[in-house]
Amino acid sequence: MDKSNKRKISLLRAEELKKNISDYVEIKENIPKGMELQYEYDKLKYKILKLFKADENDWNDWKWQLEHRIDRVNTLGRIINLTKKSRDVLNRLTEKYRWSISPYYLSLVDTKDRLDPIRLMGIPSVAEMFFESGKADPMGEESTNPAGAVTRRYPDRLIINVTNQCANYCRHCQRRRNIGQNDFHRSKKAIEESIEYVRSNREIRDVLLTGGDAFMLEDDSLEWIISSLREISHIEIIRLGTRALVTLPQRVTQDLCDMLKKYHPIYVNTHFNHPKEVTKDSKKAAEMLANSGISIGNQMVLLNGVNNNKYVVQCLNHELLKIRVRPYYIFHPKRVKGTGHFMCSVDEGLEIMEHLRGRTSGMAIPTYIINAPEGKGKTPLLPEYLISRGKDHILIRTWEGTVMECKNTKSRDMKAIFKEVDEKFQE
Ligand code: SF4
Repeated sequence: MDKSNKRKISLLRAEELKKNISDYVEIKENIPKGMELQYEYDKLKYKILKLFKADENDWNDWKWQLEHRIDRVNTLGRIINLTKKSRDVLNRLTEKYRWSISPYYLSLVDTKDRLDPIRLMGIPSVAEMFFESGKADPMGEESTNPAGAVTRRYPDRLIINVTNQCANYCRHCQRRRNIGQNDFHRSKKAIEESIEYVRSNREIRDVLLTGGDAFMLEDDSLEWIISSLREISHIEIIRLGTRALVTLPQRVTQDLCDMLKKYHPIYVNTHFNHPKEVTKDSKKAAEMLANSGISIGNQMVLLNGVNNNKYVVQCLNHELLKIRVRPYYIFHPKRVKGTGHFMCSVDEGLEIMEHLRGRTSGMAIPTYIINAPEGKGKTPLLPEYLISRGKDHILIRTWEGTVMECKNTKSRDMKAIFKEVDEKFQE
């Protein structure tokens, strides 16, 4: 084929590829993004500061944010308009399920939109009263607790639940049974028992500190746990589970970063669910961690009304990569009591995965996971790409739906290959 024909074919292919992304290019303009809403966020922020007679320094202080979490209907009603019906519902729900929202996260709410994704995740709604089926502990975490504050579901890694505290009590939380009516960090004894368990089980190479939210611990408490784990020779990596980048980015201070970077390799897993959550403050927090050498992975939960939309997930993942957070997992929601209105089908999750593959880079494609019941672990779900598998050939379906045949070659012993080529070379 001559050069001009090759160029013609390339141009035609480029046109086809453009068509494949044209829907997203148009739709993404209308997806609300935190980076474009700063003016709106600031309006609510100043209203909250005025109510609490506080200033910018207070706002940027994570302890002030924690102390001023909004958990009273009256206080909330002074910040956003609540109808009498909403107040009644909130009062009834307050008796049933704990709720609390940081001033920062509340400032991201669109007060005029009842179905605003931040509002759905941050403020209790009447739906919680009508979707009560489900379990308190669908992953059976309480039957996977061999010692102290440990949850062990895998051969080489485990979780230490260091606290039940979070900056927000998210309405979709899958661990809402842990929230209780009060915040408490796990006792020194429970943590010591957990560290001892890690020490005496040599196959454990990876420990995840979570809760609740591991970043709710003070720097010195966190350092005590991390440094004790680092003394154990078989511990290779330490991970921290936190939603503070999303709900309380002020928690990421230079002191915290300086402490963490002494104990590398350290990884952080966080939990952004919507592009509205990617703000200039969360960007600053993510960049401070990344500049301290910490890789950040995002664990999105698929939630009806928040992100069960292929374009929203695509946009979220692009916004995350821009702030140096790598999309890591999409978790299928679990049947937790009081969260039924957030449930989605596996078909919806697979449609998102099908859409992402090919239309964005692998960096922006997380693994879609369903947690098997009874704590039997994460199970990946993928659209079908391998149609059939023969001895020498396979049939695949490409991301565009074209069925193609590929060769399937079994590996050969490398020594035998070299022997054969050496002999040929001598001939
Ligand atoms: S931050 Fe995580 S653990 Fe805490 S309430 Fe929200 S979802 Fe649950």
